[in-house]
Amino acid sequence: MAQIYNFSAGPAVLPASVIRQVQSELVSYKNSGMSIMEISHRSSLYTDMEAEAEKNLRKLMSIPDEYDVLFLQGGGTLQFAMVPFNLARKNKRAGFIDTGHWAQRAIEEARLVPEIKADIVASASSTNYTTLPDVPNLEKEYDYVHLTLNNTIEGTMYRELPNALNGQILVGDMSSNIMAQRYNVGDFGLIYAGAQKNIGPAGMTVVIVKHELLDDRPELPAMLSYVKQAAKHSALNTPPVFAIYVAGLVFKWLLDQGGVDEMQKRNEKKAEFLYNYLDSSRLFSAPVKKDARSITNIPFVTGNEELDQRFIVAAQENGLVNLKGHRSVGGMRASLYNAFPFEGVQKLVEFMEKFEQSVGGNR
Ligand SMILES: *Cc1c(COP(=O)(O)O)cnc(C)c1O
Repeated sequence: MAQIYNFSAGPAVLPASVIRQVQSELVSYKNSGMSIMEISHRSSLYTDMEAEAEKNLRKLMSIPDEYDVLFLQGGGTLQFAMVPFNLARKNKRAGFIDTGHWAQRAIEEARLVPEIKADIVASASSTNYTTLPDVPNLEKEYDYVHLTLNNTIEGTMYRELPNALNGQILVGDMSSNIMAQRYNVGDFGLIYAGAQKNIGPAGMTVVIVKHELLDDRPELPAMLSYVKQAAKHSALNTPPVFAIYVAGLVFKWLLDQGGVDEMQKRNEKKAEFLYNYLDSSRLFSAPVKKDARSITNIPFVTGNEELDQRFIVAAQENGLVNLKGHRSVGGMRASLYNAFPFEGVQKLVEFMEKFEQSVGGNR
């Protein structure tokens, strides 16, 4: 099989060694004679596996003891509603930083929750989301302020948290850069991330939440209640066993590689290699302003849609797949998550140089 480099934004590339391990233990998990997909979620085979996955995630992200770690279903998208259902209690008002597509989905869903007000406190719309917005000092009292740490589609990322948030409870969507960039969990009230970008297969969502924020809400359906999910160790109903298992293998792989700081270093190196080329190219360019650039999702364009299309097709024929940008912004996008190897970025830049020469380097 020819070597393929998968630049997909999600579901995305997983470590090759993890895929091979899944294959080798698929038929009989830990000599049980059953695959991981067939075991009971009430058996110790499952509970031991889940406990180890949680322990390793806590280690990787240095998660303090006063935080609950949940493995839920419904993706990042269910968290857009579950967060306001559980946390927007006292003032029934949450603040949102509008950094683009996923932040807007979060705002829309929060507004569907009865009685909740969702205020946009800052927006990058004036630059078409190629920058991160300045956050004003927040005067109103919010139950929480929601921030999308990495904007998967627009290609912007927070390296540091905005200062003005001081004192507000921060909720962070880390779906596309969890463990790609180091953040301090203690700065957040709640963090969530769908698994299928930087953790494992779709079907599992990581939620990390400060225990003191969870008070009982008996009126909430059980599946929407963090308290009830936490009380049952994320096994209130049948959990996504296979997805948790693969995520657990990825957590182990991350620890073996040197953890989040090592991943961040490698991701910065991969991203810098591509940005350096984009900034020097006469054909390709990166629309995002330098200080806002993501290290995991890198959009780029030629400035000519027909040429973009030709590039995507030619790249695909050369084993560089899934480079098409999101339909809402067009152009190309290279997603360089933890499991994406540096060689793949070198191959991409080599190919882009050739393509640039072939079209004469003119826009
Ligand atoms: C992909 C994505 C989501 C949505 O995730 P699903 O798991 O598909 O619901 C939410 N936020 C961000 C930042 C994303 O990249």
